[in-house]
Amino acid sequence: MTRVPRIQLNDGHSIPQLGFGVFKVDPAETERIVTDALEVGYRHIDTARIYGNEEGVGRAIAASGIPREELFITTKLWNDDQGATTTPGAFDRSLERLGLDYVDLYLIHWPTPANDRYVETWNTFVELRETGRVRSIGVSNFLAHHLERLVDESDVPPAVDQIELHPYHQQPATAAFAEQHEIKIEAWGPLGQGKYPLFELPEVTSAASAHGASPAQVVLRWHLQRGHIVIPKSNRRERMVENLDVFDFELNDDEMAAITGLEREGRVGTHPDEFN
Ligand code: NAD
Repeated sequence: MTRVPRIQLNDGHSIPQLGFGVFKVDPAETERIVTDALEVGYRHIDTARIYGNEEGVGRAIAASGIPREELFITTKLWNDDQGATTTPGAFDRSLERLGLDYVDLYLIHWPTPANDRYVETWNTFVELRETGRVRSIGVSNFLAHHLERLVDESDVPPAVDQIELHPYHQQPATAAFAEQHEIKIEAWGPLGQGKYPLFELPEVTSAASAHGASPAQVVLRWHLQRGHIVIPKSNRRERMVENLDVFDFELNDDEMAAITGLEREGRVGTHPDEFN
C-alpha cells in the first residue's frame, strides 16, 4: 500500500499530504466511491456539509473496518451556520451524519466577509477543539487579509487554509502569509477541476514523458514538492489509483520552475471577498 507522507501541523497533529475530495460526488454514489477510494489506499477524505454527502462518507468508513485512528476525516461548516450560537449545532449534525465521535479537521468553508462573523465563528471553533471532538481546526478560502484578522484577534492560528490552488492560480500572497504563520496550505481544485487544458501544456506533458507519468501525476507531484496538502477528486477507480501513485518520481528544479511559470491568476471558483 502507498505510504503517503504526513505534514506536521502547528497544533501537534499531522495530516496525510494527499487525500481524496468528494465535492460534487452524488450523495447516492458517495458510499461506493469512497469505498473505492479507501480500497485503493486513500486514508484522508475531504467532505463538507454543503456537499450533502457526509452520510455516504460515514457509511463507507463504517463498512471499511479500517481502524478510526488510521483515517483522517475533514468536514466544513457552511456559511449559514457561522456564528457562536449556530456553529456548535451544525458541528454536532455533521458528526452525526458522518457517524463519528470526532473529526480530524473542521474548516470554516468561506470567510463570507459581508456577514462579518468569521472571527466569532473561529472563537467557537477554538471551544469546539477543547471538547476533543475536533482534533485540528482551520479555514478555507481565506485570503491573507482574512488570515491576518484571525491571527490578530485570536490566540489560536488556523492549522490549515484550504484554498483554490493549481498552476494557473497559485495565490502567492496568501501562501506567503500562511507560511510565515505556520499555517499549512491545502490545495483544492489541485487539477484545476478539469476546467483548464493543464494536461496538454508542454510544461506538463514534457515532464510527464520524462518520468513515465501522466500529466495529472505531474501536476500532483508539483503540489507535493511545493509542500501543499492535496485532495484530488475522481469518481473513477483507475484515476483514484493514478492520483495516489505519485511517490516514486521527483520533478527536477527546471520542471518545477516551468510549471510554476504557468501562473495567470486563473481562478475557477468565486473570489472569497465576493462569496457571501
Ligand atoms: P480537482 O482539481 O480535484 O479536479 C477534479 C476533476 O479532475 C475530476 O472531476 C476529473 O474531471 C479530473 N481528474 C481527476 N483525476 C484525473 C486524472 N488522473 N486524469 C485526468 N483527469 C482527472 O477539483 P475538485 O474536485 O474541485 O477539488 C478537489 C477537492 O477539493 C474537492 O473534491 C473538495 O473536497 C475540495 N474542494 C474544496 C472547495 C472549498 O471551497 N474548500 C472547493 C472545491 C473543492
